[in-house]
Amino acid sequence: MSLPKIDNLEIWEVTEDILLIHQKKVPFLFSCCDGLLILPKKARNKKAIALDLNIEPKYIKNLNDIYGPVSNYVCTHAHVDHTSHVYAWEQFGANIHAPSPEANFLLDLHNFYEGFGFNEAMEYSSVEKFGEINGFHNCKQVNCFKPGDSLKFEKFRIDTISFSGHSKAHVGFLLPKEKVLHISCLGFDKPKPGIDGFGPWYGFKQASISQYIEDINKAESIFINNAKFLTSSHSYIVKNPDTHPFEYMRTKIKENQEKVDNALKISNSSKLSEDEVVKQLLQMDIFFPKRKLKDFLFEIYSLWESWIIRKHIQRSNHFK
Ligand SMILES: [Zn+2]
Repeated sequence: MSLPKIDNLEIWEVTEDILLIHQKKVPFLFSCCDGLLILPKKARNKKAIALDLNIEPKYIKNLNDIYGPVSNYVCTHAHVDHTSHVYAWEQFGANIHAPSPEANFLLDLHNFYEGFGFNEAMEYSSVEKFGEINGFHNCKQVNCFKPGDSLKFEKFRIDTISFSGHSKAHVGFLLPKEKVLHISCLGFDKPKPGIDGFGPWYGFKQASISQYIEDINKAESIFINNAKFLTSSHSYIVKNPDTHPFEYMRTKIKENQEKVDNALKISNSSKLSEDEVVKQLLQMDIFFPKRKLKDFLFEIYSLWESWIIRKHIQRSNHFK
């Protein structure tokens, strides 16, 4: 099949009727994620289906012109890089589906603000600005499913898999017939072979490192046993039996633990409470160079990093 050339989009064939699509230049760091486009196929689906393909509206229009109409769109969780432009898919006529308990975050940024606990650390206006730079607009109607549910659109089946270490609602997709496993935001985020990203991300109160490690193991076993192709929200296609994405994610978590353990060693924190230690380590900019950031971005990165640090402190021997 010859693939269309659309400026600023990379389009890869996962199988002959499934595409992985990536927007290259993005308005801001958290405005887009790669996702799958399931093309129409005889006796399976008459209309195309989009899976967690959050790209700018003009590109959604391009894809719709070529492959549309798109009947259904499935979102994997409600971080802004997965929700900001979903409204455009809805405007082009797709039914929107998202997992509980985050489905209503797509309807109102205020739900996102409270649901992820931003309200404990900052004013709503900060999150509003964050939504704005990432192009967020809300959807009008979202169908809610439970992580773990199977979805069926015409004869096309998707098994959703709960990977809740990243966020409560976060799911991956197994396309059992097509043998594609999409692990979405689990943490395989290498832009190219040989170039690292940040890795697994657990910068919210409700995220969990121990659950994360279980999720990585679960994903690995599903990939080995049930899939030929591995795709994710911020990386390239990997083919079975290459399991290095799982090693990469485990190593990243280990390295993060070492960063926090080392910071604990050089900090003067033996008599401090957990809150005070988190504060002290936060000032060391272990994970994000926050010093260069201004107002609302400084607040948001500080909140994320404080949770990453706190979760690693709790896994260390510091208070034991
Ligand atoms: Zn995410």
